[in-house]
Amino acid sequence: MAATDGSVVHGSKARLQDLPSIDKLLRMSAVQALVELHGHTLVAGQARALLDDLRTLALAGTLDVIDVGADAFAAALALRTQARVAPRLRRVLNLTGTVIHTNLGRSVLPQSAIAHLTAMMQGPNNLEYDLDGGTRGDRDSIVEGLICEITGAEAATVVNNNAAAVLLTIAALAGGREAVISRGELVEIGGAFRMPDVMASAGAVMIEVGTTNRTHLADYDRGITPRTALLMKVHTSNYVVQGFTSAVPESELAVLAKERRIALATDLGSGSLIDMSQYGLPKEPTPQEMLAAGCGVVTFSGDKLLGGPQAGLIVGSRELVGKIRKFPMKRALRLSKLPLAALEATLMLYLQPEMLRHELPTLRWLTRQPDAISVTAMQLLEPFRTAVSPRYEVTVEAMSSQIGSGSLPVDRLPSVGLAIAPVLAGKRGVGTALDALAVALRGLPLPVIGRIADDRLLLDCRCIDDPAELLGQLNVLARQFP
Ligand SMILES: *Cc1c(COP(=O)(O)O)cnc(C)c1O
Repeated sequence: MAATDGSVVHGSKARLQDLPSIDKLLRMSAVQALVELHGHTLVAGQARALLDDLRTLALAGTLDVIDVGADAFAAALALRTQARVAPRLRRVLNLTGTVIHTNLGRSVLPQSAIAHLTAMMQGPNNLEYDLDGGTRGDRDSIVEGLICEITGAEAATVVNNNAAAVLLTIAALAGGREAVISRGELVEIGGAFRMPDVMASAGAVMIEVGTTNRTHLADYDRGITPRTALLMKVHTSNYVVQGFTSAVPESELAVLAKERRIALATDLGSGSLIDMSQYGLPKEPTPQEMLAAGCGVVTFSGDKLLGGPQAGLIVGSRELVGKIRKFPMKRALRLSKLPLAALEATLMLYLQPEMLRHELPTLRWLTRQPDAISVTAMQLLEPFRTAVSPRYEVTVEAMSSQIGSGSLPVDRLPSVGLAIAPVLAGKRGVGTALDALAVALRGLPLPVIGRIADDRLLLDCRCIDDPAELLGQLNVLARQFP
């Protein structure tokens, strides 16, 4: 028979009366230690839930006596309690090959931004306080000068993300009026960001001009009425239209906008602040170029190619940015102090352009050459083989990475990684075996996310700075594939 003092009889099933009362459970010394750590509320709640579960099992006759010993109770309660306070937001290793991965948090912050962010959150700061005058300040002023210096803009403001930047820009400049946009640029970014819906939310009447593949300056010209307030250009960042195509460059639209006395805004999406081609990467239009071409306002993301925190940057003329900043919706979309600190430190790196390639993780990973990636892959090869053989076969192979987050959708970066294939007699069971491996990798203490392609699990090594984190948990993986 079982007792709650820890003595157990193996093999027999526990009955309801073998379970301790909640009070008795909470008086156990191991449980008292848990209460010391987490407080009575959480531990008592978890203890009640644990007892409920055990009661159900006992009633079904499926609870082993061994599970109701005092040590087993304390251990089960500790696991439950720790699991309850374990964060749901967790670090992962991105071995998908997509560098700016929206589902994996996009850009990783540079160390300087992490340090600044952490330091600023230790106590109060001068977010909206002018230290010189001792008066109320403006949070925009923390980064406005920097953004203007880097982009050549007259004025700048920042909001929660680029979607907010676009919404606010359209609402402030074209709310209650008409905004003209090419049918070739009515993009959907994903996550329910669709240009026609954004226009409607912003209270602008959208006037579509041109066709899906070709839009000419004359189309814009004809689309303008006395009610028009804005010409809207959108960088088609996540797809390309190939073949018989034509779009009107910003420089030509700028002339038209000026003539007709309306504003011209461009949503760049990614908007790199530097010329990516200097690193051998595909060219992305920069806000600098858009402003030089005559755009009144340019919007872009903080966590795409810029390599910083989630943010939406709005740059442009003093007049238009001033209007946007004063628009009431700005208050609801403003950037919080956390990303503002991270953005400031990230932008500081752009004042030291030689530092960018090393210090900015996004750029460091995008520019990593196959030779260097191969060194990492080779370091991982034998340890991975040891962990998953003989069930899986591991090889080092050439593969293609993507930039991600809608930037440069057709471009692929040559990369290297591990390809892991199940060892099976035929095709049967390949999918199941690959899923089992993917699940095991995601179940590691630091989850590893790869991708499955052509009956293999691919682990692109481009974004691994230090293989030690991965190597250090391969023993956990090995235990699942004895
Ligand atoms: C990514 C993107 C957005 C949305 O930017 P977020 O920072 O994700 O809000 C808007 N427009 C374009 C063209 C984009 O590529």
